[in-house]
Parts: sequence; C-alpha cells; structure tokens
Amino acid sequence: MILGCHVQMKAPDYVEGSVKEAIAYGANALMLYTGAPQNTRRNPVEKLRIEEAKQLMHENGMKMEHLIVHAPYIINPANSVKPEVAELAKEFLESELERTAAIGASYLVLHPGSYTTTDLETGIHTIIERLNSVAHYPEGVKICLETMAGKGSEVGYRFEHLAEILSGVEHPESFGVCLDTCHISDAGYDINDFDGVLDEFDRVIGLTHLHVIHLNDSKNERGARKDRHANLGMGTIGFDALHAVACNSRCAAIPKILETPYIGKKPPYRYEIEMLRSGVYNREILEQMAKENG
Ligand code: FE
Ligand code: FE
Ligand code: ZN
Repeated sequence: MILGCHVQMKAPDYVEGSVKEAIAYGANALMLYTGAPQNTRRNPVEKLRIEEAKQLMHENGMKMEHLIVHAPYIINPANSVKPEVAELAKEFLESELERTAAIGASYLVLHPGSYTTTDLETGIHTIIERLNSVAHYPEGVKICLETMAGKGSEVGYRFEHLAEILSGVEHPESFGVCLDTCHISDAGYDINDFDGVLDEFDRVIGLTHLHVIHLNDSKNERGARKDRHANLGMGTIGFDALHAVACNSRCAAIPKILETPYIGKKPPYRYEIEMLRSGVYNREILEQMAKENG
C-alpha cells in the first residue's frame, strides 16, 4: 500500500523535514506545499535541502514519484473576470512547475479553479487558455487536475469537466488527474461502489490518467457540494469504503494521500495509516486524541 499524508515544509529542514515527518507516521508517500498554501511567497530551491531529502527517501525505500507537490489555492486558472488574477495564476504556475522539477517530484496537484461570476463553460475554456499560455512544461512533471466538490463556482466536480480540459491542452503529456474521495462524494459519486467510480472514470477520462488519490472522509452527505474533510470513519463515507479504496487492485500503484483534519493541534496520520495498513478500525484512539487535545 502506498500511503502518505499532507506534511509540513518549513525551516530549517524544508523538504528533508517533510520526508522525516512522513517516515515518523509510517508513510511511504507524502504531499507538501512549497510554501503557505494561501500565498505566493516562496524560498529559493537552493535552500530546500532537496539532495538530503532524496537521500533520506532512498534510504527508506521511498520512490521519488511518491513525493507529491500541491499548488496553492490562490492560483485560480478559471478566473476570466480579473486579468491580474489570471496573470498571477500563469506566472505562479510556471514557477511552481520549475520548483516541482527541481525537487525531483513527478506530480503537481492543481485545483482547476472557480469561474466566479461567469459560467461553467467559460470557466473551462479559461482554464484551457491559461494552461496553454504557460511558457514551459518541464519534462517529467505532470500537472494533476484535482476532482472538486463543486462548492460555489468550482470547476471539476464532474469527470467530464476534467476530460474536456485534458482534451483542450496543447501538451497532454504534461497532465493527469488527482482523485479526492471527499470531493467526489460531495459531488455525488458513490465511494461505496468504488469499482463503479473507477469504471466511470475510465470511460470518461481514462484510468491511465489517474496518478494521485486523496483519501479523506467527508463531513457532509453525498452530493452536498461542500468540501469539508473528516477523519477516517468519522464522516459519511466511512472506514470500510475508504479502506476498500486503499486496497483496490486497479489503483494499487497509485499513492493515496491523507488530507484529514488535525485533531486538536495534533496530526492523526500515524494512527490513520496504521488502520489502513492493518484494516482494523480504531475509533477509540481518535476519540482519545480529541479528548486529550481539546
Ligand atoms: Fe487539493
Ligand atoms: Fe484533495
Ligand atoms: Zn478539499
């Protein structure tokens, strides 16, 4: 099982520290933001301790393609209303692609964005235009468009939206998809029938384009279009369905990344990863954490 989680990337150890954090949780994959998800301030790559991180991953039998980078939320490639937002999206995406390549990661997860005051079709076409305006796609890096919950004016809550974007980009080899279980459940897909979901994904997009899975429970009912992640077994999807995703042989080679909420101020990942590996759910330990950490 290739299991990881969202980890921090901060001074003084940067990416090396991220790998250490993942290892402490028993993970063999990880996902990081190259800086704060909500702003564009970034450290120069020379500072990020990339060689040390690679060495540590190698020593622990972790593959570089299981280190995932997530682009910050402020990139909104679907916004055609404010040209300055669109310009920022293009410029930041270009630099983020270069950072992802410098780290040696293969996948950069990107939210397709929100169309704000226009409409879905305009949003989709704006995304395609924006992605096609990127000056350089580094070799070996794929942007993985994430399936979204459909909150507000979000694009990407149907597989059809992502298929349309993928068929419109000029460098299709530089693109793939990241499937988020909380998001697609909120969008109306039934995780209890994950093979059915994969069949539909295969029919609409093609399973070869699936490179990353975000494994999260959801605080809301299927179809609610809200996007609030829950800890495993603490939401409406449930542990058994999420464990079945982690075990599904059709996506065995794909890294599954937890983005479940901290409990109090503590990360739950060590326990959640253990539960997924063993297949035994331990609700008490999460409740105990909640008690101890308020
Ligand atoms: Fe995301
Ligand atoms: Fe996600
Ligand atoms: Zn989310």
